[in-house]
Order: sequence, then structure tokens, then C-alpha cells
Amino acid sequence: MSESDEVRAAGRILPYPAGDSTVVGVVGDPVSHSLSPLWHNAAFAALGMDWLSVAFRVPAGALGDALADMRAFRIRGLSVTMPHKEAAAGLVDECTPLAKRLGAVNCITNQNGWLVGDSTDGAGFLAALSRSVGFDPRGRRCLVLGAGGAARAVILALAEAGSSEIVVVNRSAARAVVAAELAGGVGRVGEPGEVALVDLVVQATPLGMDRVREGAGGAGADVLPFDPALLHAGQLVTDLVYHPAVTPLMTVARERGASTVGGLGMLVHQAALALERWTGEAAPVEPMWAAVSEPAG
Ligand code: NDP
Repeated sequence: MSESDEVRAAGRILPYPAGDSTVVGVVGDPVSHSLSPLWHNAAFAALGMDWLSVAFRVPAGALGDALADMRAFRIRGLSVTMPHKEAAAGLVDECTPLAKRLGAVNCITNQNGWLVGDSTDGAGFLAALSRSVGFDPRGRRCLVLGAGGAARAVILALAEAGSSEIVVVNRSAARAVVAAELAGGVGRVGEPGEVALVDLVVQATPLGMDRVREGAGGAGADVLPFDPALLHAGQLVTDLVYHPAVTPLMTVARERGASTVGGLGMLVHQAALALERWTGEAAPVEPMWAAVSEPAG
């Protein structure tokens, strides 16, 4: 029995975190805005687990040192965010087949010093659409705008969930080809105007993010590459951008009668799936959602 278990057994209240609390966290740069610790800690509280999640600012190029520290300090799990997802795939001891295919890791589990990298972005995306609007990709035609890390995770997840067609539209043609190949026989590179023809539109670029709208993306960076008048009722339009919660694309899609889902749900669900890998427990998604709508402080 550990020291803190003895304290608890003696009926004394031991506030978390204790001397032997299990630590998990998120690594990225910037990371101070990350909601992951909030979600993880809400889940640990709901599960009554003596675990603690914190954010670690790790600059680009320093992830190798951070993973050595993860082993040394027995940090049980790390969520990985910008700019480390691709580097992490080359630095962990083992990648799951999914992370290997994507060449990216967003979740590391420390199995007694052996670091296993996985990707929960795609499964988190599907879980969010299912929870929010009951969307099932089987037999549905999809268009993904973007071909970066998030887009690739979504494309592979949609293909594996049975989408009948996945059209990839991206600024750089070469990246679009690589991303579309992930979907095998149902994937192809397409044109922006094809948004009118699909059941699901996924916006997976930073377009519409506050940072981009404020000019960091360059002049004209926030212009969607298709005519919003092509959107229509009966479609689902989802934006992976989560700040703002309702993006300009979502606003125009709603005006056109389409259903919309924002990016926050994917973030919550990928965090929930990471937590399940670390703890072996089913993640309590509802308290995690509640932590978003009622931010601490
Ligand atoms: P990447 O940098 O890997 O990819 C960015 C993609 O956006 C590329 O396809 C890029 O095109 C395209 N792009 C960037 N700027 C522009 C622009 N001005 N005009 C047109 N296309 C552009 O980023 P991620 O894939 O990691 O992230 C993409 C977005 O998804 C971000 O806003 C991020 O916050 C969000 N995201 C949300 C998640 C969630 O859980 N909701 C999870 C992960 C990401 P090109 O190939 O031509 O450079």
C-alpha cells in the first residue's frame, strides 16, 4: 500500500495532487492556451483518480529531451500538439500502425519506459460528429479542404469508416495527392466547386482562425476557395478550427441551411481517447464537455 493509500485508508482526507500522483500532460509550443489539462483533470476528478495533467512548453527541436524526461519522471502519458506531431513519430520507441501510416503522433503512452505513439485525431473527429449530429460516414460522399496533419487523419478515418468518396482540395497540389492516397480507392484530388456535390464538407486548414483573420496568414489568407452559395440544406459542414467556436464558414453554411459542427468536439474526443490509452478506463466524456462550457476561472 502506498503512503497516500495508507493516509486514505486511515480516513484522512488527502487533497490531490499527492506525493505519488500519476502525472500526464500535453507538450507543444505555444501551449499555454491548451485545454487538454482542463479536460484531463475534469476526467480524473470524475473518475476519482489521483492523477494530474499539466502543460509543458517544449520548443521545436526539443522533443527528444522532453521524451527522455518523460521516461525519467515516469510521466504516464503525453498529448502532442504543434509543432511536434511529426517529430514525435520518429522519436517514440514504437508507433501504432495508424500513427505509422499518418507519420504523426498526437498521443504517447509510457509503458514502463517504452514509449508508444498513437494518433487519436481521426477517431476523435468521427466521435465528435457522431455525438453532435449522429453522422455516420458509411456510404457518404465527403470533401476535405486541406492536406496537412489534421486533414490526413480525417481522410484516413473517413475512408476506414466506409465513406464512398473522399475528395481532397488543397492549396498545394502535391500534398493533396499524398493525402488523397491515404483513402485508397475512394480518395481523389478534386476541385473546390465540388463542395456542392457532397454530404460532408470538412474544413481542415487554418482559414477562419482568429489568428489568420487578424492577418497572420497574410493578405487574403482568410478567403475560402469556393463560393459559399454552393452550400445547401442536407449537407453537414464541419470546421476543425475551434477558435472562434463558430467560424465564418459555419455562419455562412447555417445561412444556406446546412448543419454545422465546430472543431471543439474533435479536440475533446481526441483527449478522451488519449486518456483511455493511459488509464485503461473509459473516459467520462460528459464532464470533459462540461469543463469546456464552464472554463475554470
Ligand atoms: P498543417 O500545417 O499540417 O496543415 C495546414 C493545411 O492548411 C495545409 O493543407 C495547408 O495547405 C492549408 N493552408 C494553410 N494556410 C492556408 C491558406 N492561407 N489558404 C489555403 N490553405 C491553407 O496544420 P494542421 O493540419 O495541423 O491544422 C489545420 C487546422 O486544423 C488548424 O486550424 C488547426 O488548429 C486545426 N486542428 C484542429 C483540431 C481539432 O481537434 N479540432 C486538431 C488538429 C488541427 P498547403 O499544403 O498548401 O500548405
